[in-house]
Amino acid sequence: MAMAVSEIAAHVAAGGRLSFADALEFYTSAPTELLGRLGDAARERRHPGGVVTYIIDRNVNYTNVCVARCKFCAFYRPVGSAEGYTLGFDEIFAKIEETIRLGGVQLLLQGGHNPDVPLRWYEDLFRQVKARYPEFKLHALSPPEVLHISRLSQLSVPEVIDRLIAAGLDSIPGGGAEILVDRVRKILNCYNKATADEWLDVMRQAHRAGLRTTATMMYGTAETVEERLEHLFRLRELQDETGGFTAFIAWSFQPQHTELGGIEATGIEYLRTLAISRLVLDNFDSLQASWVTQGGKVGQLSLAYGANDMGSVMIEENVVRAAGAEYCMDEFEVVRNIENAGFVPKRRNMHYDILGDPIFREREVPRMLELAVARPDGSVGETDDMRAYEARSAAAKRARSHDTAR
Ligand code: SF4
Repeated sequence: MAMAVSEIAAHVAAGGRLSFADALEFYTSAPTELLGRLGDAARERRHPGGVVTYIIDRNVNYTNVCVARCKFCAFYRPVGSAEGYTLGFDEIFAKIEETIRLGGVQLLLQGGHNPDVPLRWYEDLFRQVKARYPEFKLHALSPPEVLHISRLSQLSVPEVIDRLIAAGLDSIPGGGAEILVDRVRKILNCYNKATADEWLDVMRQAHRAGLRTTATMMYGTAETVEERLEHLFRLRELQDETGGFTAFIAWSFQPQHTELGGIEATGIEYLRTLAISRLVLDNFDSLQASWVTQGGKVGQLSLAYGANDMGSVMIEENVVRAAGAEYCMDEFEVVRNIENAGFVPKRRNMHYDILGDPIFREREVPRMLELAVARPDGSVGETDDMRAYEARSAAAKRARSHDTAR
Protein backbone atom coordinates (compact mmCIF):
# COMPACT_ATOMS: atom_id res chain seq x y z
CA MET A 1 0.00 0.00 0.00
CA ALA A 2 1.18 3.48 -0.81
CA MET A 3 2.15 5.89 1.95
CA ALA A 4 0.40 9.25 2.32
CA VAL A 5 1.82 12.14 0.28
CA SER A 6 3.43 13.78 3.31
CA GLU A 7 5.11 10.50 4.33
CA ILE A 8 6.37 9.96 0.79
CA ALA A 9 7.75 13.51 0.74
CA ALA A 10 9.64 12.91 3.99
CA HIS A 11 10.97 9.56 2.69
CA VAL A 12 12.21 11.16 -0.56
CA ALA A 13 13.66 14.21 1.19
CA ALA A 14 15.72 11.83 3.33
CA GLY A 15 17.14 10.27 0.15
CA GLY A 16 14.85 7.20 0.18
CA ARG A 17 13.99 5.27 -2.97
CA LEU A 18 10.45 5.46 -4.36
CA SER A 19 8.43 2.26 -4.71
CA PHE A 20 6.06 2.00 -7.66
CA ALA A 21 2.98 2.49 -5.46
CA ASP A 22 4.47 5.55 -3.76
CA ALA A 23 5.60 7.05 -7.07
CA LEU A 24 2.08 6.62 -8.43
CA GLU A 25 0.51 8.21 -5.38
CA PHE A 26 3.00 11.08 -5.45
CA TYR A 27 2.76 11.73 -9.20
CA THR A 28 -1.03 11.80 -9.15
CA SER A 29 -1.68 13.50 -5.77
CA ALA A 30 1.25 15.67 -4.66
CA PRO A 31 0.87 19.42 -5.22
CA THR A 32 2.98 20.62 -8.17
CA GLU A 33 4.95 22.93 -5.92
CA LEU A 34 5.92 20.01 -3.62
CA LEU A 35 6.97 17.83 -6.56
CA GLY A 36 9.09 20.71 -7.83
CA ARG A 37 10.69 21.41 -4.47
CA LEU A 38 11.74 17.78 -4.02
CA GLY A 39 12.88 17.47 -7.64
CA ASP A 40 14.96 20.60 -7.19
CA ALA A 41 16.49 19.30 -3.93
CA ALA A 42 17.39 16.00 -5.64
CA ARG A 43 19.08 17.98 -8.44
CA GLU A 44 21.00 20.10 -5.94
CA ARG A 45 22.23 16.96 -4.12
CA ARG A 46 23.72 15.61 -7.37
CA HIS A 47 24.80 18.93 -8.82
CA PRO A 48 25.71 21.26 -6.00
CA GLY A 49 26.68 24.85 -6.73
CA GLY A 50 23.93 25.53 -9.24
CA VAL A 51 25.89 24.48 -12.33
CA VAL A 52 23.65 23.94 -15.34
CA THR A 53 25.23 22.41 -18.41
CA TYR A 54 24.50 22.38 -22.12
CA ILE A 55 26.19 21.00 -25.21
CA ILE A 56 26.88 22.60 -28.56
CA ASP A 57 26.07 19.91 -31.07
CA ARG A 58 24.02 19.51 -34.19
CA ASN A 59 20.98 17.37 -34.69
CA VAL A 60 21.25 15.86 -38.17
CA ASN A 61 18.64 13.57 -39.69
CA TYR A 62 20.47 11.75 -42.45
CA THR A 63 17.32 10.33 -44.06
CA ASN A 64 13.57 10.78 -43.69
CA VAL A 65 12.74 7.57 -45.55
CA CYS A 66 11.27 5.09 -43.10
CA VAL A 67 9.50 1.77 -43.16
CA ALA A 68 8.38 1.97 -39.51
CA ARG A 69 5.44 4.43 -39.93
CA CYS A 70 4.98 5.35 -36.28
CA LYS A 71 1.61 7.02 -35.77
CA PHE A 72 3.08 9.90 -33.78
CA CYS A 73 5.66 10.84 -36.41
CA ALA A 74 5.23 13.72 -38.85
CA PHE A 75 8.80 13.49 -40.13
CA TYR A 76 9.05 10.28 -42.12
CA ARG A 77 8.27 9.63 -45.78
CA PRO A 78 7.52 6.13 -47.07
CA VAL A 79 9.96 4.30 -49.36
CA GLY A 80 9.61 5.61 -52.91
CA SER A 81 8.07 8.95 -51.81
CA ALA A 82 8.92 11.95 -53.99
CA GLU A 83 9.69 13.83 -50.74
CA GLY A 84 12.23 11.29 -49.44
CA TYR A 85 15.87 12.33 -48.95
CA THR A 86 19.15 10.79 -47.88
CA LEU A 87 22.06 13.13 -47.22
CA GLY A 88 25.37 12.59 -48.99
CA PHE A 89 28.67 12.45 -47.12
CA ASP A 90 29.73 15.89 -48.40
CA GLU A 91 26.51 17.41 -47.11
CA ILE A 92 27.17 15.87 -43.70
CA PHE A 93 30.80 17.07 -43.69
CA ALA A 94 29.61 20.62 -44.47
CA LYS A 95 27.26 20.44 -41.47
CA ILE A 96 30.10 19.24 -39.25
CA GLU A 97 32.32 22.11 -40.37
CA GLU A 98 29.59 24.64 -39.63
CA THR A 99 29.07 23.02 -36.21
CA ILE A 100 32.79 23.23 -35.40
CA ARG A 101 32.74 26.95 -36.32
CA LEU A 102 30.02 27.43 -33.69
CA GLY A 103 32.11 25.65 -31.06
CA GLY A 104 30.25 22.36 -31.51
CA VAL A 105 31.74 19.03 -30.49
CA GLN A 106 29.43 16.36 -31.91
CA LEU A 107 26.65 15.33 -34.24
CA LEU A 108 23.47 13.80 -32.92
CA LEU A 109 22.85 11.67 -35.97
CA GLN A 110 19.50 9.92 -36.33
CA GLY A 111 17.23 9.03 -39.21
CA GLY A 112 14.41 6.93 -40.56
CA HIS A 113 14.60 3.18 -41.05
CA ASN A 114 15.67 3.32 -44.64
CA PRO A 115 16.01 -0.12 -46.28
CA ASP A 116 18.34 1.36 -48.88
CA VAL A 117 21.02 2.50 -46.43
CA PRO A 118 23.11 -0.55 -45.52
CA LEU A 119 25.52 -1.03 -42.60
CA ARG A 120 28.51 -0.36 -44.86
CA TRP A 121 27.21 3.19 -45.49
CA TYR A 122 27.32 3.97 -41.76
CA GLU A 123 30.74 2.41 -41.40
CA ASP A 124 32.14 4.39 -44.33
CA LEU A 125 30.56 7.60 -43.07
CA PHE A 126 31.84 7.17 -39.51
CA ARG A 127 35.37 6.28 -40.70
CA GLN A 128 35.51 9.29 -42.99
CA VAL A 129 34.20 11.62 -40.29
CA LYS A 130 36.87 10.37 -37.88
CA ALA A 131 39.61 10.67 -40.49
CA ARG A 132 38.66 14.28 -41.25
CA TYR A 133 37.67 15.47 -37.76
CA PRO A 134 39.43 13.19 -35.25
CA GLU A 135 38.19 15.08 -32.17
CA PHE A 136 34.59 15.28 -33.32
CA LYS A 137 32.10 12.91 -31.65
CA LEU A 138 29.33 10.80 -33.15
CA HIS A 139 26.31 10.41 -30.88
CA ALA A 140 24.41 8.30 -33.35
CA LEU A 141 21.69 5.79 -34.12
CA SER A 142 18.96 5.26 -31.55
CA PRO A 143 18.14 1.65 -30.50
CA PRO A 144 15.41 1.12 -33.13
CA GLU A 145 17.89 2.19 -35.84
CA VAL A 146 20.46 -0.25 -34.49
CA LEU A 147 17.79 -2.98 -34.59
CA HIS A 148 16.83 -2.00 -38.11
CA ILE A 149 20.47 -2.23 -39.23
CA SER A 150 20.80 -5.56 -37.44
CA ARG A 151 17.77 -6.96 -39.28
CA LEU A 152 18.90 -5.50 -42.60
CA SER A 153 22.41 -6.87 -42.31
CA GLN A 154 21.37 -10.14 -40.62
CA LEU A 155 23.93 -9.55 -37.90
CA SER A 156 23.20 -9.67 -34.18
CA VAL A 157 22.81 -6.42 -32.23
CA PRO A 158 26.17 -6.86 -30.42
CA GLU A 159 27.89 -7.47 -33.77
CA VAL A 160 26.36 -4.33 -35.28
CA ILE A 161 27.35 -2.29 -32.23
CA ASP A 162 30.91 -3.63 -32.36
CA ARG A 163 31.23 -2.81 -36.04
CA LEU A 164 29.86 0.69 -35.54
CA ILE A 165 32.23 1.29 -32.63
CA ALA A 166 35.16 0.08 -34.75
CA ALA A 167 34.09 2.62 -37.39
CA GLY A 168 33.89 5.50 -34.91
CA LEU A 169 30.58 5.46 -33.02
CA ASP A 170 31.04 7.25 -29.68
CA SER A 171 27.66 6.96 -27.97
CA ILE A 172 24.02 6.11 -28.60
CA PRO A 173 21.11 8.53 -28.21
CA GLY A 174 18.04 7.32 -26.32
CA GLY A 175 15.49 8.06 -29.03
CA GLY A 176 12.71 5.72 -30.06
CA ALA A 177 11.87 4.73 -26.48
CA GLU A 178 8.49 6.49 -26.60
CA ILE A 179 6.80 4.55 -23.75
CA LEU A 180 8.50 1.27 -22.92
CA VAL A 181 5.27 -0.69 -22.56
CA ASP A 182 4.22 -2.96 -25.41
CA ARG A 183 0.48 -2.22 -25.09
CA VAL A 184 1.23 1.42 -25.88
CA ARG A 185 3.80 0.58 -28.56
CA LYS A 186 1.22 -1.49 -30.43
CA ILE A 187 -1.26 1.42 -30.43
CA LEU A 188 1.44 3.81 -31.68
CA ASN A 189 2.59 1.33 -34.33
CA CYS A 190 6.12 1.32 -32.97
CA TYR A 191 6.00 -2.22 -31.53
CA ASN A 192 7.49 -3.74 -34.67
CA LYS A 193 10.38 -1.29 -34.85
CA ALA A 194 11.34 -2.22 -31.29
CA THR A 195 9.49 -3.85 -28.42
CA ALA A 196 10.16 -2.48 -24.96
CA ASP A 197 12.52 -5.40 -24.25
CA GLU A 198 14.34 -4.95 -27.54
CA TRP A 199 14.91 -1.23 -26.91
CA LEU A 200 16.28 -1.94 -23.46
CA ASP A 201 18.43 -4.77 -24.73
CA VAL A 202 20.14 -2.60 -27.36
CA MET A 203 21.04 -0.24 -24.52
CA ARG A 204 22.22 -3.15 -22.37
CA GLN A 205 24.48 -4.35 -25.20
CA ALA A 206 25.76 -0.84 -25.87
CA HIS A 207 26.61 -0.38 -22.18
CA ARG A 208 28.34 -3.78 -22.14
CA ALA A 209 30.39 -2.70 -25.14
CA GLY A 210 31.51 0.36 -23.17
CA LEU A 211 29.28 3.03 -24.73
CA ARG A 212 27.42 5.58 -22.67
CA THR A 213 23.88 6.37 -23.81
CA THR A 214 20.94 8.57 -22.92
CA ALA A 215 17.33 7.56 -22.28
CA THR A 216 14.16 9.35 -23.32
CA MET A 217 10.41 9.23 -22.83
CA MET A 218 7.73 10.64 -25.09
CA TYR A 219 4.55 10.91 -23.06
CA GLY A 220 1.07 12.23 -23.80
CA THR A 221 -0.14 9.76 -26.42
CA ALA A 222 -2.07 6.63 -25.47
CA GLU A 223 -0.41 5.71 -22.20
CA THR A 224 -1.81 5.70 -18.67
CA VAL A 225 -0.03 7.33 -15.76
CA GLU A 226 0.90 3.84 -14.53
CA GLU A 227 2.52 3.11 -17.89
CA ARG A 228 4.63 6.29 -17.72
CA LEU A 229 5.88 5.10 -14.37
CA GLU A 230 6.48 1.58 -15.67
CA HIS A 231 8.71 3.22 -18.30
CA LEU A 232 10.68 5.05 -15.62
CA PHE A 233 11.01 1.96 -13.44
CA ARG A 234 12.28 -0.14 -16.34
CA LEU A 235 14.95 2.49 -17.01
CA ARG A 236 15.89 2.62 -13.33
CA GLU A 237 16.23 -1.16 -13.28
CA LEU A 238 18.57 -1.24 -16.29
CA GLN A 239 20.58 1.63 -14.87
CA ASP A 240 20.99 -0.35 -11.63
CA GLU A 241 22.29 -3.21 -13.76
CA THR A 242 24.68 -1.36 -16.11
CA GLY A 243 25.12 2.25 -14.97
CA GLY A 244 25.49 3.16 -18.64
CA PHE A 245 22.95 5.96 -18.96
CA THR A 246 24.25 9.50 -18.65
CA ALA A 247 20.97 11.37 -18.83
CA PHE A 248 17.22 11.20 -19.17
CA ILE A 249 15.09 13.45 -21.38
CA ALA A 250 11.28 13.54 -21.32
CA TRP A 251 9.12 15.39 -23.80
CA SER A 252 5.47 15.60 -24.66
CA PHE A 253 4.05 14.21 -27.88
CA GLN A 254 3.80 16.92 -30.56
CA PRO A 255 0.54 16.11 -32.36
CA GLN A 256 0.44 18.39 -35.41
CA HIS A 257 0.59 16.67 -38.82
CA THR A 258 0.72 13.20 -37.24
CA GLU A 259 -1.63 10.31 -37.91
CA LEU A 260 -2.41 10.03 -34.20
CA GLY A 261 -3.31 13.72 -33.76
CA GLY A 262 -4.91 14.96 -30.53
CA ILE A 263 -3.83 17.73 -28.17
CA GLU A 264 -0.52 18.36 -26.49
CA ALA A 265 0.08 17.84 -22.77
CA THR A 266 0.32 21.13 -20.85
CA GLY A 267 3.35 22.83 -19.33
CA ILE A 268 2.33 21.87 -15.79
CA GLU A 269 2.06 18.22 -16.81
CA TYR A 270 5.55 18.51 -18.25
CA LEU A 271 6.97 19.97 -15.04
CA ARG A 272 5.23 17.34 -12.89
CA THR A 273 6.56 14.58 -15.17
CA LEU A 274 10.06 16.02 -15.05
CA ALA A 275 10.01 16.22 -11.25
CA ILE A 276 8.70 12.68 -10.75
CA SER A 277 11.33 11.45 -13.22
CA ARG A 278 14.07 13.08 -11.15
CA LEU A 279 12.71 11.38 -8.03
CA VAL A 280 12.19 7.92 -9.54
CA LEU A 281 15.45 7.94 -11.53
CA ASP A 282 17.61 8.34 -8.47
CA ASN A 283 20.46 6.55 -10.24
CA PHE A 284 20.61 8.97 -13.21
CA ASP A 285 23.06 11.85 -12.95
CA SER A 286 21.49 14.21 -15.40
CA LEU A 287 18.04 15.28 -16.50
CA GLN A 288 17.68 17.51 -19.52
CA ALA A 289 15.11 20.24 -19.98
CA SER A 290 13.25 19.77 -23.24
CA TRP A 291 12.95 23.40 -24.32
CA VAL A 292 12.78 22.17 -27.93
CA THR A 293 9.24 20.92 -27.28
CA GLN A 294 8.28 23.13 -24.31
CA GLY A 295 9.76 26.43 -25.44
CA GLY A 296 12.37 28.57 -23.68
CA LYS A 297 10.09 29.71 -20.86
CA VAL A 298 9.03 26.28 -19.61
CA GLY A 299 12.56 25.07 -20.42
CA GLN A 300 13.86 27.66 -17.99
CA LEU A 301 11.30 26.65 -15.35
CA SER A 302 12.51 23.06 -15.71
CA LEU A 303 15.62 24.11 -13.84
CA ALA A 304 13.44 24.55 -10.75
CA TYR A 305 11.83 21.10 -11.16
CA GLY A 306 14.85 18.83 -11.29
CA ALA A 307 16.61 19.46 -14.61
CA ASN A 308 20.34 20.23 -14.46
CA ASP A 309 21.01 20.42 -18.18
CA MET A 310 19.59 22.44 -21.04
CA GLY A 311 20.41 19.80 -23.64
CA SER A 312 21.73 21.05 -26.90
CA VAL A 313 21.77 24.47 -28.44
CA MET A 314 19.68 24.09 -31.54
CA ILE A 315 21.49 24.52 -34.82
CA GLU A 316 19.31 22.21 -36.85
CA GLU A 317 16.02 20.46 -36.20
CA ASN A 318 13.76 18.55 -38.56
CA VAL A 319 11.65 16.09 -36.55
CA VAL A 320 9.89 18.18 -33.91
CA ARG A 321 9.42 20.98 -36.40
CA ALA A 322 7.55 18.61 -38.74
CA ALA A 323 5.08 18.13 -35.85
CA GLY A 324 4.51 21.82 -35.37
CA ALA A 325 7.02 23.02 -32.72
CA GLU A 326 9.81 25.33 -33.71
CA TYR A 327 11.97 26.86 -31.03
CA CYS A 328 15.38 28.21 -31.89
CA MET A 329 17.92 28.91 -29.17
CA ASP A 330 21.54 29.54 -29.92
CA GLU A 331 24.24 29.49 -27.25
CA PHE A 332 23.65 33.13 -26.34
CA GLU A 333 19.97 32.44 -25.63
CA VAL A 334 20.63 29.20 -23.72
CA VAL A 335 23.14 30.99 -21.50
CA ARG A 336 20.81 33.97 -20.98
CA ASN A 337 18.04 31.61 -19.83
CA ILE A 338 20.32 29.68 -17.48
CA GLU A 339 21.81 32.80 -15.87
CA ASN A 340 18.47 34.53 -15.57
CA ALA A 341 17.20 31.52 -13.60
CA GLY A 342 20.08 31.98 -11.16
CA PHE A 343 22.36 29.17 -12.36
CA VAL A 344 25.92 28.97 -13.65
CA PRO A 345 26.15 27.89 -17.32
CA LYS A 346 28.88 25.47 -18.37
CA ARG A 347 29.59 23.86 -21.70
CA ARG A 348 29.87 20.06 -21.66
CA ASN A 349 30.44 17.04 -23.89
CA MET A 350 28.26 13.92 -24.17
CA HIS A 351 29.92 12.44 -21.08
CA TYR A 352 28.97 15.55 -19.11
CA ASP A 353 32.61 16.54 -18.65
CA ILE A 354 32.75 20.31 -18.30
CA LEU A 355 34.48 21.86 -21.31
CA GLY A 356 34.38 25.46 -20.16
CA ASP A 357 32.42 28.68 -19.99
CA PRO A 358 30.21 29.88 -22.85
CA ILE A 359 32.23 29.92 -26.04
CA PHE A 360 30.81 33.25 -27.18
CA ARG A 361 32.59 34.84 -24.21
CA GLU A 362 35.89 33.39 -25.42
CA ARG A 363 35.68 34.22 -29.08
CA GLU A 364 33.49 35.64 -31.81
CA VAL A 365 30.75 33.16 -32.70
CA PRO A 366 28.04 33.82 -35.30
CA ARG A 367 24.50 34.14 -33.88
CA MET A 368 22.08 31.44 -35.08
CA LEU A 369 18.68 33.08 -35.15
CA GLU A 370 17.05 30.54 -37.41
CA LEU A 371 17.12 26.77 -37.39
CA ALA A 372 18.94 25.07 -40.23
CA VAL A 373 17.19 22.25 -42.07
CA ALA A 374 18.36 18.95 -43.55
CA ARG A 375 18.80 20.50 -47.00
CA PRO A 376 18.85 24.29 -47.21
CA ASP A 377 17.46 24.30 -50.75
CA GLY A 378 14.64 21.92 -49.74
CA SER A 379 15.64 19.44 -52.43
CA VAL A 380 14.92 15.74 -52.15
CA GLY A 381 16.36 12.42 -53.27
CA GLU A 382 19.79 10.94 -52.69
CA THR A 383 23.25 11.91 -53.84
CA ASP A 384 25.45 10.14 -56.36
CA ASP A 385 27.57 8.50 -53.67
CA MET A 386 24.62 6.21 -52.80
CA ARG A 387 25.26 4.33 -56.03
CA ALA A 388 28.13 2.59 -54.30
CA TYR A 389 25.66 0.94 -51.91
CA GLU A 390 23.23 -1.89 -52.40
CA ALA A 391 19.58 -0.84 -52.64
CA ARG A 392 16.79 -3.07 -51.30
CA SER A 393 13.65 -1.31 -52.49
CA ALA A 394 12.57 -1.34 -56.13
CA ALA A 395 12.37 2.47 -56.12
CA ALA A 396 15.97 2.91 -54.95
CA LYS A 397 17.23 0.20 -57.30
CA ARG A 398 15.65 2.11 -60.18
CA ALA A 399 17.01 5.47 -59.02
CA ARG A 400 20.54 4.14 -58.55
CA SER A 401 20.64 2.56 -61.97
CA HIS A 402 19.56 5.76 -63.78
CA ASP A 403 21.13 9.17 -64.15
CA THR A 404 18.56 10.83 -61.96
CA ALA A 405 20.53 10.94 -58.72
CA ARG A 406 22.09 14.25 -57.61
S1 SF4 B 1 9.64 8.05 -35.38
FE1 SF4 B 1 11.47 7.31 -36.46
S2 SF4 B 1 11.03 5.17 -36.80
FE2 SF4 B 1 9.05 6.12 -36.37
S3 SF4 B 1 8.24 6.69 -38.40
FE3 SF4 B 1 9.34 8.48 -37.60
S4 SF4 B 1 11.36 8.27 -38.52
FE4 SF4 B 1 10.40 6.27 -38.65
